[in-house]
Amino acid sequence: MTDHTTFRVRRPLTDTELTLATTEIDAAQSTAGILDAVLRTVFGALLATVGESLNSYGHGRTLDPVQFAIPAAQHAAITEACLSRAAAFGTRLTIAMDLLNVMPSTYDDPAVIAPTTPPRDHRPNAHVLTVSREATDVIAACARHCSELGQYFGEHSRQYLEAAGSWQRNLTLMFSMDFGAATRVTRDGELSLLVSCASGFTYGIIFHPQPRRCTRQGCAAVIGNDGTARTINRESPACPDGDHVPAYPLDAPAPGTWSFHS
Ligand SMILES: [Zn+2]
Repeated sequence: MTDHTTFRVRRPLTDTELTLATTEIDAAQSTAGILDAVLRTVFGALLATVGESLNSYGHGRTLDPVQFAIPAAQHAAITEACLSRAAAFGTRLTIAMDLLNVMPSTYDDPAVIAPTTPPRDHRPNAHVLTVSREATDVIAACARHCSELGQYFGEHSRQYLEAAGSWQRNLTLMFSMDFGAATRVTRDGELSLLVSCASGFTYGIIFHPQPRRCTRQGCAAVIGNDGTARTINRESPACPDGDHVPAYPLDAPAPGTWSFHS
């Protein structure tokens, strides 16, 4: 716990200071520009309280943001403005991390009420998705795999619901503009995709089939698609009679889920 007496400056921003901060953040032309706007406006204001300016820093003297504190409601409003502006550049995730090192500390001040106007939607008007033709085949194959699981195990089965749910969540994420407004999707395996975003962020939507384990008690064998049973370690126990009971039949579509990998 940081005691407030240790802060160099601890006060609410005035309405004018807060408005200037959000206006400058809104006008920033890059992710770095957003952080710069926070420094200039928020710390410019707080440093003025102790007769300093940003010019007092640099050349071996570093500004430690946590030595300054503003009310939590104002902190939240500035953070929201930054995240909203970062959506223009597809860098919401990046700026959220950067802000941890740049924003001042907070304290509770019930008298300070957060501004009620929601931040502007800075996202570009359209999300341009470029999908390679091989990736379109993968997308079709993933949808087909989900239907096959539904047909084989039933549409209320855990196998179907988990697979279809994870596919739908990842597909929705791919369409979202969280990582920018220009995205390229390529094939990364029979049922997996590689997604490269304009912000420079790249992630995979990877299908992880469930290993086809033997369900007999005390057996650690995994049965391959060709019916061959193996244990990860040679010394692991396996059915002595070799009569394994696979968790799902060899001719069944493989249950599994898609997951997001950055
Ligand atoms: Zn077995």
